[in-house]
Amino acid sequence: MKYESRAALSRPVADEVRKTTCYMCACRCGIDVHIKDGKIRYIEGNRDHPVNRGVLCAKGSAGIMQHYAPARLRAPMKRVGPRGSGQFQEISWEEALETATSWLGEVRARDPKKLAFFTGRDQSQSLTGFWAQQFGTPNYAAHGGFCSVNMAAAGIMTIGGAFWEFGAPDWDRTKLFVLFGVAEDHDSNPIKIGISKLKARGARFVSVNPIRTGYSAVADNWLGIRPGTDGLLILALVHELLRTRRIDVDYLVRYSNAPWLVIDAPGTADHGLFARDADGKALIWETVTERAVAEGSRGARPALSGRYTLDDGRSAVPSFQLLAEKYLDPRYAPERAAEATGIDADTIRGLASEISRVAFEETIEIDQPWTDFRGERHESFVGRPVSFHAMRGISAHSNGFQTARALHMLQVLIGAVDCPGGFRFEPPYPKPIEAHPTPHGKAEHFGSNKPLSGPHLGFPRGPEDLLIDPQGKPTRIDKAFSWDAPISAHGLMHMVIANAHAGDPYPVDLLFLYMANMAWNSSMNTAGVIRMLEDKDEVTGEYRIPKIIYSDAYASEMVAYADLILPDTTYLERHDCISLLDRPISEPDSVQDAIRWPVVEPDRDVRGFQSVLIDLGTRLRLPGFVDSRGQGLYRDYAHYIVSHERRPGIGPLAGFRGRNGDRTGRGAANPDQLKRYIENGSFFVAHIPPEARFFKHANSAYQDFAVEMGFFDKPQPVTFQLYSEILQKFRLSAEGVREPVAPATHRGRILSAFDPLPEWYAPFGEDDGEEFPLHALTQRPMAMYHSWGSMNAWLRQIHTQNALFVPGMLCDRLGLSDGDWAWVTSRHGRIRVPVARMEAVNGDTVWTWNAIGKRRGAWGLSTDAPEGNKGFLLNHLINELLPPKGDGMRWSNSDPVTGQAAWYDLKVRIEKAEPAERSEPVFMEIKALVPDDRRPDELRYGQEWSQ
Ligand code: SF4
Repeated sequence: MKYESRAALSRPVADEVRKTTCYMCACRCGIDVHIKDGKIRYIEGNRDHPVNRGVLCAKGSAGIMQHYAPARLRAPMKRVGPRGSGQFQEISWEEALETATSWLGEVRARDPKKLAFFTGRDQSQSLTGFWAQQFGTPNYAAHGGFCSVNMAAAGIMTIGGAFWEFGAPDWDRTKLFVLFGVAEDHDSNPIKIGISKLKARGARFVSVNPIRTGYSAVADNWLGIRPGTDGLLILALVHELLRTRRIDVDYLVRYSNAPWLVIDAPGTADHGLFARDADGKALIWETVTERAVAEGSRGARPALSGRYTLDDGRSAVPSFQLLAEKYLDPRYAPERAAEATGIDADTIRGLASEISRVAFEETIEIDQPWTDFRGERHESFVGRPVSFHAMRGISAHSNGFQTARALHMLQVLIGAVDCPGGFRFEPPYPKPIEAHPTPHGKAEHFGSNKPLSGPHLGFPRGPEDLLIDPQGKPTRIDKAFSWDAPISAHGLMHMVIANAHAGDPYPVDLLFLYMANMAWNSSMNTAGVIRMLEDKDEVTGEYRIPKIIYSDAYASEMVAYADLILPDTTYLERHDCISLLDRPISEPDSVQDAIRWPVVEPDRDVRGFQSVLIDLGTRLRLPGFVDSRGQGLYRDYAHYIVSHERRPGIGPLAGFRGRNGDRTGRGAANPDQLKRYIENGSFFVAHIPPEARFFKHANSAYQDFAVEMGFFDKPQPVTFQLYSEILQKFRLSAEGVREPVAPATHRGRILSAFDPLPEWYAPFGEDDGEEFPLHALTQRPMAMYHSWGSMNAWLRQIHTQNALFVPGMLCDRLGLSDGDWAWVTSRHGRIRVPVARMEAVNGDTVWTWNAIGKRRGAWGLSTDAPEGNKGFLLNHLINELLPPKGDGMRWSNSDPVTGQAAWYDLKVRIEKAEPAERSEPVFMEIKALVPDDRRPDELRYGQEWSQ
């Protein structure tokens, strides 16, 4: 049915339509909220919105049931019974804010690091990070460490950007799209729209995933790979491309560090680093004059192979020579990779051949003159129409960082980064590592009643930037940026509670969390974390984590463990800012940002968390939140959004800046900015000029545009770092030849994981051996974003309980049929679960939907709700620590480079169980978070349950 006829059939159902931004998952689609008699009647996609073009998923339309859910918190509360009892007393906001201010103020005056402030998948990290910096604690991060920091860090360190919020496939032009490790709810509507474009054009879509559901189900080819081996598959593809000489040499020479000379002086502090001139510029070997010159020298013809003697007598080789030597080694041959990956050698060779055929024989050319940053003019944009996308499936392993690096290297080798048909950057990316801060949190960076001297999160350039004390001890509670996880660019949220409980590296006084369900599905070792939250000091009788403040909109499991609850609004009752300073929503051809605004007013005594944080900042007189007389700078978050400036003229929103609202990117604060956004559908778009749209990393018109928009203050072109000098610096420290020297306990781990060229090693979970032969994974379903839909009456009808999906052959061997029960055992625990047979899954893998199982009593659900009885989590099988190594050390269950939580390293065995009524383990019901009189037996659309 055409749009016109569909529109003609519609009859108005509302008094008014208000346009805002969805928050039922992290995609940030535009929505039209239809309102009648002051109540939300209907939600549909905004057809003008650049993210979703009117497309709305099940979650988005079910936002109405999220908004009216009985599980909404109603007022601030203080705990009056033991932690976990669910006994709370409602209090006034004044009492809540006074209590929080006194707890926070006392910590800030005495020892600010004793505040650990961590947020979940919030979309205001630019504000929350700024607040934590002004408070002065080094202990801040959001959820990235347990989500996909491997993807982000590896991408930024290799090409200056990464997938999703940093870039996207060129859906309109790509001819071969290869998707690694993405289920069906990541970047949800944009990927669905993109795949439909591929299908309409007949482009080929290959999915590499152990499980064939969601996007994989509509792929032309599905490669059911063994979990944790994607990196080896990618390096086997690289082996084949090098062996058949199907790489883009011109692209490598122009845009990557392939020609940069690497010093070959084993046993010295410079071995493996780039040879540089007096100005610090990397050297290349110029083949005409036969001498070393600075990279980028006009007219230079660099060598990609050979061995050369530098003026100081040292020997050096182009980094590409090291790369080619490494990956041409037979250990990366398809036959060898086939064994580990489960993908046969012919298929690997076939995929490599198809990648090279499409890249080099189906080239795209767009007639558009452009000039590169070295001043060379090009008559057209030449594209290699092969694109890749990946996410948590490859990154949530202990080898995920190097796997993601390998994928970016593959894209660069075929010349497919930011070209027509390839992977394309989304502004403000690409951004070279030099444009990112180093992390702050060393002892000299903070002190009582002082702000932290710089941002918490960033990229160390070498071991000298680690956040450790002179004895090598971590200065952060999560041990981020320590020898344990040196490049933990998003922190290690999954370690915060365990470390705070253990007092390692020190205890904290106050844990402050926002929308992070750490007492249930967001923690490894859930039962253990619950015990840690409840645990008391034997001598003092005080909780080991003395105070917990938590903000959430709903009665999640975590609420029961807080001492003070600051109730948040729903996403339809608040101001929010989807900012370029934060996690952007731009497209490859345009700069975009957006807002949320209260399309309905709260009917409860709740406040938006960001406004509460600003209020607390003012009460605490934090710099950046008060003026020189101690007067608050911002009334609330809406006021902050329009008036805060991070740098002169640069604020949270890029659109409608300047006194008249006619400036974009840079410009004075505009008090009417939110009004202008609302009039514009709650989003803003600025198109990139045609000559600046591709090769952004090297395109002078794009670099000028980026400066004009305020992304940078001077052009910041990116040279792709296939060979990472930063990683090599850590290896030199581990070899003991470079200061600071790595502790002996960490040397082997760093030497094996910090290869300057992408490497594959078996995930640490493989150490569990034959006793636990199966991989166990979770995926997010299309209709549920983690636990966000737990209270949603419509979405619960789609997923009320989960089952363990077991490969058919394994079912036959174990005598399992649909509806049977099985025990699933890991090194850490044992759970009893219902099973379902599945054929389209890797034969060594079992899996289930993530976060469907609930604790009884939480989320306002009745005690007989299936989620609390038959639903289950795999989290009980995963420990936050790896098994003891025999040397007294226990590493966190993380990638050793970035600290990314290795959720998908889990290995298990399964056995048939007797028929049962409920899954195990069984937890005590949480009482009274939502009283019975506020919990109707049945929820229906339109019913007056909003109290
Ligand atoms: S994909 Fe669905 S839930 Fe996510 S933002 Fe878009 S409409 Fe909302």
